[in-house]
Amino acid sequence: MTLDLLIIGAGPAGSALAAAAAARGLAAQAVDPDPARPWPNRYGLWLDELGPLADVVAHRWAAAAVTFDAARGASLARAYGTVDNEALRRRLAAPVVAGEVVAVDHDATGSTVTLADGATLRAAVVVDATGRGLGPAPAAPGYQVAYGRLVEVEGHDHPLDTMGLMDFSPVPGAPARPPTFLYTMPFGPRRLFVEETVLAERRPSAFDDLAARLEARLAHRGWRVVAVHEEERCLIPMGAPLPRVGRVLPFGAAAGLVHPATGYSLAHSLRTAPGVADALVEGLAAGPAAAVEAAWAALWPGEKRRLWTLYRFGLQVLTRLDVRETQDFFAAFFALPPPLVRGWLAGTLSLAEARQAMWGVFGGLPGALRARLIAHGLRPHGWRLLGALSSRGR
Ligand SMILES: Cc1cc2nc3c(=O)[nH]c(=O)nc-3n(C[C@H](O)[C@H](O)[C@H](O)COP(=O)(O)OP(=O)(O)OC[C@H]3O[C@@H](n4cnc5c(N)ncnc54)[C@H](O)[C@@H]3O)c2cc1C
Repeated sequence: MTLDLLIIGAGPAGSALAAAAAARGLAAQAVDPDPARPWPNRYGLWLDELGPLADVVAHRWAAAAVTFDAARGASLARAYGTVDNEALRRRLAAPVVAGEVVAVDHDATGSTVTLADGATLRAAVVVDATGRGLGPAPAAPGYQVAYGRLVEVEGHDHPLDTMGLMDFSPVPGAPARPPTFLYTMPFGPRRLFVEETVLAERRPSAFDDLAARLEARLAHRGWRVVAVHEEERCLIPMGAPLPRVGRVLPFGAAAGLVHPATGYSLAHSLRTAPGVADALVEGLAAGPAAAVEAAWAALWPGEKRRLWTLYRFGLQVLTRLDVRETQDFFAAFFALPPPLVRGWLAGTLSLAEARQAMWGVFGGLPGALRARLIAHGLRPHGWRLLGALSSRGR
């Protein structure tokens, strides 16, 4: 049997696209080495980004706190939650078969996928939803690195209805670079998920260094750990150029959907899967190559590419700031009007709004940092930034 769509990888992105395509009548299937294996990541997101999937939440907080230093911080009145991965998988109900893809070959009418056990599958269009991508990984200008623990503590003073999105309070004795923050999810009066995070850096920090900082931070706050239930090591390449697209359609993290300034991609993949499926349905009438082209254009319209270029510029800036500058940067960012903050974090702003947000942040920075950013902006990324801001950008 020849499928319309074969999706390599049944993580959240591949599953969302397989489900959206099947719902539109396409013969669609995902293939993954172990379809029953639980998705490994503890996904957190803004609940208003879940749309119709709002019932797949495992834990919710009414607000999120951001702390820049001892004197400055804000509470964002926006619900945040963790995803119940199994509930999301059940809701998507994507058709998945077991297999590890080792080769993909194309001809005029479609593609043949070879699995590790020698079996083959045939489809008009093949999608790469493998997360890291089937091809060689392009160099990333930045990495998000985080080390987290789900811990039992004797007690803590974190409000239970609020999660800590980023707390840049200094850790006594910690070096100024890279700047790290604490991400906190309070699950009860004695249970917390705590993660020491570098939002973006050029060379990834060692997990052991982050673990040591986390321990020092918890001790400084007086949160005495009595048990560690889980550990998380997170390394997310950010801001890499979009993959070159031939006959295989990338989707999810493999398609550059990871936000270059936050490292999030889950909501982005869930939000874009239906539109990509629509484009595939339409494009398939003109053949596999046309379908891939139409779907890629639906995923990456010109304005969104230019927006991503702006985000990459933001990423480059972030990787160069020390602790004090990072605190000032985020104090200015979170002072923006809430719709701009929300849209920037979601990646849904128009170019005009993104420009407004950038100028807003710039205007809110101390003079010395503004001067440093101007100097940075002109070498070497400023020209790329100007290209992105101009109407002629790709
Ligand atoms: C520790 C961690 C925490 C994260 N937390 C968040 C978060 O809180 N919120 C957020 O938005 N983002 C988060 N991210 C970033 C990002 O959203 C995730 O990486 C997300 O899992 C990407 O989804 P995906 O479906 O594109 O890829 P993946 O989840 O990586 O899924 C890829 C799938 O492809 C399969 N596969 C790979 N190769 C083959 C092959 N050859 N043949 C068949 N199948 C194959 C794999 O088995 C896997 O199931 C996190 C990332 C990490 C690493």
